[in-house]
Amino acid sequence: MTGTLYIVPTPIGNLEDITLRALRILREVSLIAAEDTRTTRVLLQHYEITTPLTSYHEHNKLTKLDAIFDALAAGDVALVSDAGTPGISDPGYELITETIQRGIRVEPLPGASAILTALVGSGLPTDGFVYLGFLPKKAKARADLLHDLLQERRTLVAYESPNRLVETLEAVRETFDERPLCVARELTKLYEEFFRGTASTAIDHYTANPPRGEIVLLISGALPDEAAWDEVRVRAALADLMAQGESLNRAAKIVAGQSGWNKRDVYALGTGA
Ligand code: SAM
Repeated sequence: MTGTLYIVPTPIGNLEDITLRALRILREVSLIAAEDTRTTRVLLQHYEITTPLTSYHEHNKLTKLDAIFDALAAGDVALVSDAGTPGISDPGYELITETIQRGIRVEPLPGASAILTALVGSGLPTDGFVYLGFLPKKAKARADLLHDLLQERRTLVAYESPNRLVETLEAVRETFDERPLCVARELTKLYEEFFRGTASTAIDHYTANPPRGEIVLLISGALPDEAAWDEVRVRAALADLMAQGESLNRAAKIVAGQSGWNKRDVYALGTGA
């Protein structure tokens, strides 16, 4: 009889953050497909689980499918990643979709994920959010993505690495100005930190204290007032900046960043076109 593919979340730091059901499934399945068998072995040893392991990671996720489907033909398989929920910025998507396409049962278990842990602790609105995964590494691609999200009203949630955090916060300030944001670092671990502030205060904080560990960056969505940039308001903001001595080019860039308008359209208003 064909088995079931269980998607099993594992802790994101604190080994206690695993459900009773997840432990039972890991014990009962005939095979665990793990992103990194060494990492998963530490977890299994902690809970005295001796189920066989096989690797399933970014670089073998296509070639490994046949072996996993052979195992599913004979029994149940659990999919785990290094930490948190498989398939969320982690390997799993291809295996899950292929399993569904083959008509094999997929059973996801609820459990640890850095996204929700960070979101509920951030203090930012939780009624709607947009998960962005890891932001692009290239500055232009990152700036374009952030700019496209300027009018987004839901909370933005992204994974970020510690060595890019300050650079990303600078890009966030450039686009979103001083919106509320939160940096959630080392969740569930000894040095857990929630830094709540704005891009500028976070830049100051993380320049003085270079961040380590794992990070989720959360940015408030567009505030209702911010979403209402009509032509009158754009003209007024442009006039204000030019009265302060900014060139039309620079003022148009700043107002475009604040309002979400296209810079060319703002510039055209400034020339009276
Ligand atoms: N599948 C995982 C999940 O469900 O959370 C995410 C895997 S992704 C490869 C790893 C990224 O998640 C890290 O670089 C970091 O941005 C975030 N992350 C994972 N654990 C975290 C933690 N304990 N604290 C903060 N961020 C974490």
